Amino acid sequence: MAENKALTTRAADFSAWYNEVIMRAELADYSPVRGCMVIRPNGYAIWEQMQRALDDRFKETGHQNAYFPLFIPQSFLAREAEHVEGFAPETAVVTHAGGKELEEPLVVRPTSETIIYSMFAKWIQSYRQLPLLINQWCNVVRWELRTRLFLRTTEFLWQEGHTAHATEAEAEAETLMILKLYREFMEQWIAMPVVTGRKTEGERFAGALRTYSLEALMQDNKALQAGTSHNLGQNFAKAFDVRYQTEEGSLDFVWNTSWGVTTRMIGALIMTHSDDAGLVCPPRLAQYQVIIVPIFKKDEEKTVVLEAANRLQQELRDGGIRVFLDAREGMTPGAKYYEWEGRGAPFRLELGPRDIASGSAMLARRTGGKKEPVPLAGIAGRMKDECERMQGQLLEAARVRREAASLRGATKAQFLEFIENPGGFVYGGFCGRPECEAEIKEATKATVRVLPDEEFRSPTTPDKCMWCGTPSVVEAVWARAY
Ligand SMILES: [Zn+2]
Repeated sequence: MAENKALTTRAADFSAWYNEVIMRAELADYSPVRGCMVIRPNGYAIWEQMQRALDDRFKETGHQNAYFPLFIPQSFLAREAEHVEGFAPETAVVTHAGGKELEEPLVVRPTSETIIYSMFAKWIQSYRQLPLLINQWCNVVRWELRTRLFLRTTEFLWQEGHTAHATEAEAEAETLMILKLYREFMEQWIAMPVVTGRKTEGERFAGALRTYSLEALMQDNKALQAGTSHNLGQNFAKAFDVRYQTEEGSLDFVWNTSWGVTTRMIGALIMTHSDDAGLVCPPRLAQYQVIIVPIFKKDEEKTVVLEAANRLQQELRDGGIRVFLDAREGMTPGAKYYEWEGRGAPFRLELGPRDIASGSAMLARRTGGKKEPVPLAGIAGRMKDECERMQGQLLEAARVRREAASLRGATKAQFLEFIENPGGFVYGGFCGRPECEAEIKEATKATVRVLPDEEFRSPTTPDKCMWCGTPSVVEAVWARAY
């Protein structure tokens, strides 16, 4: 059990606070293998909620799940030049197995484009088989030097979508449809607002034609890339000879897309909503939305209270609420409140003899405010409404915080000052030159997060590059990032 000790505050040390929130909520733990992470049941429950919501949406939009091997022949990675350059430095390679040196070393997948498109080459012959829309839920390994729980670990869980299309336009439509699907998930489930847009050439995925990304702003005003969607063009189709017979009878290469989100979203959830008392979890993703704490002093109260608590639990469950009745003995109600607060349970219902007599329970919200009595009659409907209300409030609070930490139309001097303190999203004109982008990164550690989609752009397009003063070709969002 967690110690009764206050967490380091966000203001004192954000990164220490982040680790302590994870430990207190028992979301994850360090593993014997450096850089790897154990996801504990409380953390895995959040991942399962995320998976379920996303998987439903992937299927609604015509995708099917499949599974491809963990091991990839090393030569596969080399077939796409940029891809191998991008991923080779961080791959784990198996050279021995079964007591013998392997003829060809096997890479532990850092991502599965190569092995999946080698199979697509076998499966696709005709335009009638397109589009092919596949997703896989799996683990991947990228040998990271500096790791942080959920944010950057050597092995992590994710989904990777891989599709093949007959035309560039169809591939682009798929890439953007998924970007929109991710955005809706992040806003409606994680209650986390994101800025979407295209990555610059320097930041795009190794082997992609275009990369689109979703960027969120954490409470320490650092950006976090929460997901990406890539139009891969025909790069991998050419490398793996994925060709199809067109309606006219000629042979053409397919157009591919790939897209993914990872367990990193749990880190994003933590840093978007949690407070100095621990985890705050949006109701839609919480393992338990409501915790019932029975309260009694005398033994004769116990039977009555526990009976009522069990009925309440059943009623909430029947109403589609994820509920847990904390009837543990030998633990004070106060100790239970403290524990569930640290674990981020959105709502707590306290039920004692006097509440039962008056036909109500005391409702406490994780996001604060006064406790209040709520009638037991119709409580499932009430708690459903409460969940939706808190979900909306969390999104709105995060949006207000992000906008307060966004600077538009900045000059170079303002940018330099702002990025240092308080930090946040800086919208500015950009000349589009890679040298300029590299110079800014070198000088400020800020990177172009995205070239924002239209709805996020400033009302007037800046005419000069914020940094070098030459004509601007596009507006860019800069930030220091995880
Ligand atoms: Zn410039």
